[in-house]
Amino acid sequence: MDDTILVINSGSSSLKFAILSNDGDLILVEGIAEGLGSNQGRLTIKFDGQKHFHALPTSNHKSALIQISNWLDINESIKADLKGIGHRIVHGGESFSASVLINDDVLTALNKCSELAPLHSPAHLKGIEIAKSLFPTLPQVAVFDTAFHQTLSPEQFLYGIPAKYYQEYHFRKYGFHGTSYRYVSAKLGTINPQSLKQGVLVAHLGNGASVCAINSAKSTDTSMGLTPLDGLIMGTRSGSVDPSLLAFIAEKEQTSISDTIDILNKKSGLLGISELSNDCRKLEEAMLAGNEKAKLALDMFASRAAKQLMSAATTLDSIDHIVFTGGIGENSSYIRRKVCDNLKAFNIKINAIKNTDMARSEICLISDENSSAHIWVIPTNEEKMIAIDTINLIKNEPVN
Ligand code: ADP
Repeated sequence: MDDTILVINSGSSSLKFAILSNDGDLILVEGIAEGLGSNQGRLTIKFDGQKHFHALPTSNHKSALIQISNWLDINESIKADLKGIGHRIVHGGESFSASVLINDDVLTALNKCSELAPLHSPAHLKGIEIAKSLFPTLPQVAVFDTAFHQTLSPEQFLYGIPAKYYQEYHFRKYGFHGTSYRYVSAKLGTINPQSLKQGVLVAHLGNGASVCAINSAKSTDTSMGLTPLDGLIMGTRSGSVDPSLLAFIAEKEQTSISDTIDILNKKSGLLGISELSNDCRKLEEAMLAGNEKAKLALDMFASRAAKQLMSAATTLDSIDHIVFTGGIGENSSYIRRKVCDNLKAFNIKINAIKNTDMARSEICLISDENSSAHIWVIPTNEEKMIAIDTINLIKNEPVN
């Protein structure tokens, strides 16, 4: 089997991995190491339709990657086909506008932008370093969540704060979910080539959620900012709030700024509003059972998504396509309908039947015939995008 790629997504307390072949279309193995940094780390490997659980001798990234490497030693044929490793990197700062083969210069640049993503970057760097020592012959590639948004103009990426904060500290909007936006817009381009020259709005709605405006295949605006806290209401994140709120919460609750940010990151969003769950599916069940707070949380989520879509749309020449993706965008007909109902002033009309009857895990057109824009559901696949970039860079072919 050719071009088998190990994709690593190294987070602060978890490490997800997948081994993909056939241009990323076939997932041979996937797994997750959870509880890293606690005393209950464990690794789950899914292979051949079965899940295997491995205790981790020490709950850290190194131990997780060693176990994965040991598993590959036993499953020699999969190991023999491995051609490279692709790492998901959350923050590439302004240094990276596309995926790159990892070398010493790249590591130095990654180290430099690590202060912009203190939760993620140390884990990524660790993941790369350990993977390098365990698989010394395999080329490694870095694929950045921020890279796709490096086409934003200063008018969009600068904050309305003293200029020196950008000049001295590079504080600006970076945006995230770029790998997903790149995948989804390219996918739309394969079924509707005209879209590559048109205005596309994408709502990536998952536990983390953001929107992106794409004009002629380039990102022109997005809702997340310097960090992924900005923009939409998310599973546990507040999204945009009046910045002064931080000081008010800190004073009333006697918390530090960083603890207050923690509240906005981990205790807010769908979870904070519903006081029930961050999980859209659970909230829909609760709403159907009459829970008013669950309904309010879902409706606020949809309303904020619609607002952010239209805000990003101000950077487009026209709104020709709206795409829903991510766990919620792909699966929740309720949220899709609510978002589109909030866009009726723009003559954007969803077809109620197509929206509810659409086939799961497939690309579907769900707009009404008289809608001003096509409305699509396109399943995202960030791992596949990382695998494709890794293959292309190893073969010295361009990535876009
Ligand atoms: P992330 O990658 O940001 O962790 P996902 O894209 O996996 O998140 O999306 C997770 C969200 O998708 C959860 O809120 C989950 O409830 C929601 N979701 C998944 N399936 C469904 C479904 N059938 N109906 C409604 N929501 C769903």
